Amino acid sequence: MNPGGRFDVCVVGAGIVGSSVAMALAERNLKTIAVDLDLSGRLSSSEKNAGGVRATWWQPVNITLCRASIQFYEKIASQVGFRQRGYLWLYDDATWPEALAHIELQRSLGHPIETLSASEVSGRFPEIDKLDGIAGATFSPRDGLINPNLLKEHYRGTALRRGAQFLDRVWVIGIEAGADGVSVNCWQSDEAMSDPGLMRLMTQDGPGEAETGHLFELRADAVVIAGGAWSPYPLKLLGLKNYSEAVRRQVCVVDNRATNLGGYGMIVDTSGVYFHNEGAHILAGYSPPEEPPGYHFTYDGEPFFQTEIWPRLFARMSCMERLRHVTGWAGLYEVSPDRSAILGRAANRVYEAHSFSGRGVMQSYGAGQALGDLIASGKYDQLDASALSRERFEGGKRAFEALHI
Ligand SMILES: Cc1cc2nc3c(=O)[nH]c(=O)nc-3n(C[C@H](O)[C@H](O)[C@H](O)COP(=O)(O)OP(=O)(O)OC[C@H]3O[C@@H](n4cnc5c(N)ncnc54)[C@H](O)[C@@H]3O)c2cc1C
Repeated sequence: MNPGGRFDVCVVGAGIVGSSVAMALAERNLKTIAVDLDLSGRLSSSEKNAGGVRATWWQPVNITLCRASIQFYEKIASQVGFRQRGYLWLYDDATWPEALAHIELQRSLGHPIETLSASEVSGRFPEIDKLDGIAGATFSPRDGLINPNLLKEHYRGTALRRGAQFLDRVWVIGIEAGADGVSVNCWQSDEAMSDPGLMRLMTQDGPGEAETGHLFELRADAVVIAGGAWSPYPLKLLGLKNYSEAVRRQVCVVDNRATNLGGYGMIVDTSGVYFHNEGAHILAGYSPPEEPPGYHFTYDGEPFFQTEIWPRLFARMSCMERLRHVTGWAGLYEVSPDRSAILGRAANRVYEAHSFSGRGVMQSYGAGQALGDLIASGKYDQLDASALSRERFEGGKRAFEALHI
């Protein structure tokens, strides 16, 4: 289908961020269309993440966007599976002073957070029985876990009810922004994309020879680049500098009948492994610092579990001795130079919302609302995200965060 007419805004990419932006634009009565190669998100980061939601960040803008998101998730908790069971974060001697240094800021912005000694940790979380190397811990009770698929569906459903359109099987291959508007050139696959076809296209910057499709053009007053880890390509089409890179992240699902972590939210160990209850299983992830950038989706399977996950979990908790690897997957982080999102106006008629560096689910609502205001009224209103503008990389003030979930 080639939708005729002119739109106020075309959103490139309808993952959790693009869908939230589309909802915010439709709520502001802007005629909105969002396009994506695969609305079901088979390779999108929004379908591959750990569902963690927290506001314990170092930068006021990141705390503020996450807090606004959490307040929204609280209101729709049952619809999006928001389980507000907190984040327990264990720190070693090297990282504890940094954590303490940011707690007052987090509290001053309205996010409650407790500090715990190692013995208090084992008192409240008895499964954590090996306390070696714990210098201190934080527990933030308003943080928790969410179902990202349901959240994306919530954004899309609301946007659709407000009149937005979503186009599937569309890959944007050209964008021009001029004085009289934006032209977005699209290639649309004639049939549902096969898994190998999708993989070819999303690792090669364009349709391969095996894919059959047709071309059409969309016209709009403005465009939003919300292509997640694939944003460098539409930015290149617009002649805009790309600052970020895609990096593989792996998580695995393990079976441990001896332990039920269902009463807890996310737990992050001093070793960097993070884990939480996932149905009848445990979901655990670890991000090796030496992972090279690139569009890599291969999951390393049992060796990843045996090498990176199991030794770290068992070193902290005796009850993790008999874990069994069940499954797992790999997805992409889109990492900016200071590990904060790039959000705001990028050029005349061009806006962007990408490079969330592991924070796209937990910031999606706040980021969408902030950008919605900027596009609709020309300025940030309730949420000021100006600290995340791309200008910070050209002599402005950076928004540094450590890279962890
Ligand atoms: C293992 C892992 C664990 C994570 N854990 C967490 C977590 O606990 N909490 C959290 O908040 N975040 C987490 N993240 C990060 C989070 O998943 C991402 O920040 C977030 O999903 C980004 O959303 P997005 O909409 O920007 O990108 P995506 O979900 O990747 O969506 C981008 C979409 O744009 C489309 N697209 C791109 N280019 C084009 C084009 N040219 N034409 C048409 N369509 C295009 C793609 O098809 C894609 O669907 C994790 C990520 C991974 C991989």
